[in-house]
Amino acid sequence: MKIQNYINGQFLPPVADGWIDNYCPANGEVYGQIPNSSKEDVESAYMAAKSAFPTWSQTTLEARSRILIKISELLEANLQRFAEAESKDNGKPISLAKTIDIPRAASNFRFFGNAITQFASESHESIGLNAINYTLRQPIGVVGCISPWNLPLYLFTWKIAPAIAAGNCVVAKPSEITPMTAYLLGDILKEAGLPKGVLNIVHGLGTSTGQAIVEHPGIKAISFTGGTATGAHIARVAAPMFKKLSLELGGKNPNIIFADCDYDDMLETTVRSSFANQGQICLCGSRIFIEASIYEKFKTDFVTKVKALKVGHPSEEDTNIGALVSKPHLEKVMEYIEIAKQENGKILCGGNRVTVEDYENGYYLQPTVIEVETDECRINQEEVFGPVVTIMPFHTEEEVLKMANKVKYGLSATLWTNNLKRTMRMSNQLQSGIVWINTWMMRDLRTPFGGVKASGVGREGGFEALRFFTETKNVCIKY
Ligand code: NAD
Repeated sequence: MKIQNYINGQFLPPVADGWIDNYCPANGEVYGQIPNSSKEDVESAYMAAKSAFPTWSQTTLEARSRILIKISELLEANLQRFAEAESKDNGKPISLAKTIDIPRAASNFRFFGNAITQFASESHESIGLNAINYTLRQPIGVVGCISPWNLPLYLFTWKIAPAIAAGNCVVAKPSEITPMTAYLLGDILKEAGLPKGVLNIVHGLGTSTGQAIVEHPGIKAISFTGGTATGAHIARVAAPMFKKLSLELGGKNPNIIFADCDYDDMLETTVRSSFANQGQICLCGSRIFIEASIYEKFKTDFVTKVKALKVGHPSEEDTNIGALVSKPHLEKVMEYIEIAKQENGKILCGGNRVTVEDYENGYYLQPTVIEVETDECRINQEEVFGPVVTIMPFHTEEEVLKMANKVKYGLSATLWTNNLKRTMRMSNQLQSGIVWINTWMMRDLRTPFGGVKASGVGREGGFEALRFFTETKNVCIKY
């Protein structure tokens, strides 16, 4: 099957007729082609967005909100179709696509459809000067949204929904590795009555199609989620053009477990926070630090639970771990397991490929737990982004805080303890954009989302996203 770009409300093939193979991770076979869009395709997407902007930016909030909520309802009505497409394209278990990815994509549209009706700005009365200042938050114009492969529709819509809610028109590119649900979204945009040109979806490689979006002088803001190296490159390209930038990048998140936590809850959640989506979530806790007094017990219980996870075909309802997203990614993850071994890491379970009957060429890997001697090894410092976690004991709060912060990343941290004072002390000092206490990945879409250090710049979520997608202007009136 050949998918197409969605430009100016129409499905179109790429101008230069270039195509890229799309692989199914569950069996390693090519199952379709996607446009290898060139600068010309990005240009026509831009022109469509530019001509839609004057009307869309002046469309009432109520009308915009109604369309976003309609998109959300249509996604919900098409849950099964979208979930199957996501699972096939990405390798994730269908159960996850059905309960997390697609419902969350629908929530993104509903949430920002509602949020825009509540978005307000400030006024400042200059007392004694007979003047009042008020703030306008105006749509920027044409903006670019670029998203990764791990939560394809979920993260694509997390950007698009606030961008169009705020009155912008968009040129968006999903990952070339997982383009399918972004393609299917086109039909829904039409059915929901989104005016043509408001949202244009171009498919293609990051280094050509993505690069053309970032380089385009008329695209005034870039919202990007992906790897840290790509983020740094995009920042270098966009900086001389003074584009607004939001960068959500990689992570190497600590999961810190104290002996006084609710043990069973912690154990169950830690299995999830380690291996959900094959460990390919930027928020997964890949470095697990356990207080020494419960280390041996945790090690035994955790490994037992991890060994019980079923690695299988993503379409089977009882599969816990599906396929990794691509062959190069599988090879990268396996290379890290080798590096860990060379660094004296002890493989407690996993470490090998899995052969799933009838799907021998699929990209399956056992969930892997590695006991490390030091937090300074590469497997503990570099982002692996797969079903691989490390465990090691700690003795004091100071020691674990130091290790938790001693990486270049700072996206999220998880802390398991029932000690309130420790909770307060540590959440103040952990260098990360998000701290979860006694839970993981519990999301309220109103909250700021993003990282510090090499995990990114800027925040998404709630009004933060609407602020990013608007330009702030102060108006001062003397009376
Ligand atoms: P990636 O950086 O390779 O690609 C992300 C997107 O950028 C893709 O659409 C790609 O085509 C595009 N791209 C690549 N080069 C580009 C260029 N030169 N110009 C413009 N666009 C370009 O990342 P990935 O492998 O798809 O995703 C995995 C990474 O994403 C991991 O590092 C993960 O931690 C990170 N991630 C971060 C968050 C977060 O919220 N912080 C969420 C999910 C994933």
